[in-house]
Amino acid sequence: MGNYIIAIDGPAASGKSTTAKGLAKLLNYTYIDTGAMFRAVALAILEENIDYQNEENLNELLNSINIEFRLIKEVQNIFLNGVNVSDKIRLPEVTKLSSIIATYPAVRSKLLELQREFGKNGRIIMDGRDIGTVIFPNADFKFFLTGSTRIRAERRWKELNDPNVSLEEIEEDLIWRDKNDSSRSIAPLQKAVDAYEVDTNDMSVEEQVNYLYRIIEDKR
Ligand code: C5P
Repeated sequence: MGNYIIAIDGPAASGKSTTAKGLAKLLNYTYIDTGAMFRAVALAILEENIDYQNEENLNELLNSINIEFRLIKEVQNIFLNGVNVSDKIRLPEVTKLSSIIATYPAVRSKLLELQREFGKNGRIIMDGRDIGTVIFPNADFKFFLTGSTRIRAERRWKELNDPNVSLEEIEEDLIWRDKNDSSRSIAPLQKAVDAYEVDTNDMSVEEQVNYLYRIIEDKR
């Protein structure tokens, strides 16, 4: 269907990636998880033990790393310098650092370039924080997913299924990240004026996917 660019933004654990994946399957589109790209940069910093506050060191790292997506059994996997890091980037220390380094202009401009390149041919669903506002301000469809912190934390907690991590810890992490992501000066987490806002509190993943799909069908 069409050759659209579809942007899905929203706070952490608002169901962006599960919705985007489901929609990509229905439309036979490519899905790009831009959060995974920030996470890959954070992982590279941790693995190479870089002082990211030093501009020169950070630029050197950004110029040397390679980030790409590869489909494996119909699932998008992210590769950092040729290594599949799809699981590693979900570690809590990587999660926290990804939100910190996402405030750095050098990181954002490097990933902006890559994201625009990935999306240039259309037939793409990209999720993140600034896709509808900064990366593709002319996207054909923009969605902004929301949900209460408690409900989002519960979903993430169930997904994680780790007895060592409490629901409260997850909720605290979400609150911290949302605040950090919304208050930064460049490309903050923000609803684009022309985005459809979708409150996911009482919606299942299937309902979210169908809701977005219907909007796209109706408009085309
Ligand atoms: O979406 P996810 O939780 O994987 O993103 C990890 C972090 O990357 C976010 O907390 C945010 O700071 C950053 N991010 C961003 N812009 C995007 C996607 C993610 O700043 N488009």
